[in-house]
Amino acid sequence: MGRKPKTKTERQKNEEAKNKKPNENKMIPRLRGIRDILPDEYRYWDLVLNKAESMIKYYGFLRTETPVLENVALYERSTGKQTDIVSKEMYTFIDRDNERVALRPEATPGLVRSYIEHGMFSLPMQPVKLYWIGNLFRREKPQAGRYRQFSQIDLEIFGEAGAVADAQIILIGYNLFKELQIDAQVQINSIGCPNCRPEYVKKLIEYYKQRPVRNKLCPDCKKRLIKNPLRLLDCKEESCVNARAAAPQIIDHLCEECRDHFVKVLEYLDELNVVYTLNPFLVRGLDYYNRTVFEFWSEDSEQGRQDALGGGGRYDYLVEYMGGRPTPACGWGIGAERMILKIKEKNIPLVDANQPNIFVAQLGEASKRKAMNFFEELRRRGYKAAQNFVKDNLKAQLELANKLAVKLTLILGQKEMMDGTILIRDMESGMQEVFDFKKVYEELDKRLK
Ligand code: AMP
Repeated sequence: MGRKPKTKTERQKNEEAKNKKPNENKMIPRLRGIRDILPDEYRYWDLVLNKAESMIKYYGFLRTETPVLENVALYERSTGKQTDIVSKEMYTFIDRDNERVALRPEATPGLVRSYIEHGMFSLPMQPVKLYWIGNLFRREKPQAGRYRQFSQIDLEIFGEAGAVADAQIILIGYNLFKELQIDAQVQINSIGCPNCRPEYVKKLIEYYKQRPVRNKLCPDCKKRLIKNPLRLLDCKEESCVNARAAAPQIIDHLCEECRDHFVKVLEYLDELNVVYTLNPFLVRGLDYYNRTVFEFWSEDSEQGRQDALGGGGRYDYLVEYMGGRPTPACGWGIGAERMILKIKEKNIPLVDANQPNIFVAQLGEASKRKAMNFFEELRRRGYKAAQNFVKDNLKAQLELANKLAVKLTLILGQKEMMDGTILIRDMESGMQEVFDFKKVYEELDKRLK
């Protein structure tokens, strides 16, 4: 009889990791699935984050930050022990105080904890509308648009049960994609509530237990049938997609309250001209959602979740479940990297609000000092200027000015120093004119208008 192969214990794996020494002479590379963001890419980040923040603030959301490290139990209880995020992807470790900690894999649980811990239910301004921008960590299989450290923009509304809240957060996401010129579509469904869902789940299990259907399921879905049957509906395996075609749809099993709520959400969206697709198979991967669930898909995505741009829903029971007062809530998370990928793919032009339109050039030590002071004065007066004071050669400075596509270059040389003048060069025509230094701001204002 063959021996069962030994699997390594956690301790053995830890020992191995400790003993694995990097080659002393070699650079230590970054970890798999974790990226650097270099200056060239930051232009995209600025665009996305600035747009998102100004949009979200316009609707009255306030920024909140939560810690990267939280107690593991926070995610086990909220996200759910059976979810992929918690059971497979979360980075956890026991710290030196013997505390089980996790790198946050999701933003909502921390925001819920913060809402409860700071007694936000008694804030004068209700509902409480928060937004959050930060890093999340999931040990997923890295691929394009899927990293182990990534960024999300999240927003949450605490304390509003009405359909208007669901519709408004969907509208904000929809508007954000529009403003960034990303073609996105809203996929929406309702997954009911603890009153109506159990009956539906029973029907779903009955359907999937039929032998011909069950035989089509992938090994993961066979497990889901026992642990998390709703998730059978959003499996991306082709055979599971085929198997679900005749599955009962939750929309036909909603209680009256859930149906009313869903109809109202859709009516608001119609009124606001938000284009959406009813997707009976959209369930989202987490335990805490009820009623409305939605995702933002890029126009070219077929199966959705794999490359969804964002998603969210209502979670009316989570705050109470996490130890707070009963508080209806809803929210979404949108991935920054995926938005940036879309902007790059489509070559959407970037407009940099800080793009300089003046370059200050200098020739020689004395004029360099004056030019440095002049540059400071330009900054104080609110002009957008650029320079490279480590270069003394005029040709090299003009080349840089050209690269930066500035409108004017202001040149201070020995002669200008002596005469109290400055040369203004129009970069497009190449024309240069001498001006009294005292009148330079007047002339700039005229030419930059
Ligand atoms: P989720 O929190 O899983 O609902 O994801 C919400 C959004 O976050 C997704 O639609 C993606 O835009 C983004 N996202 C999720 N996981 C990753 C990942 N591993 N890498 C990059 N972006 C991700």
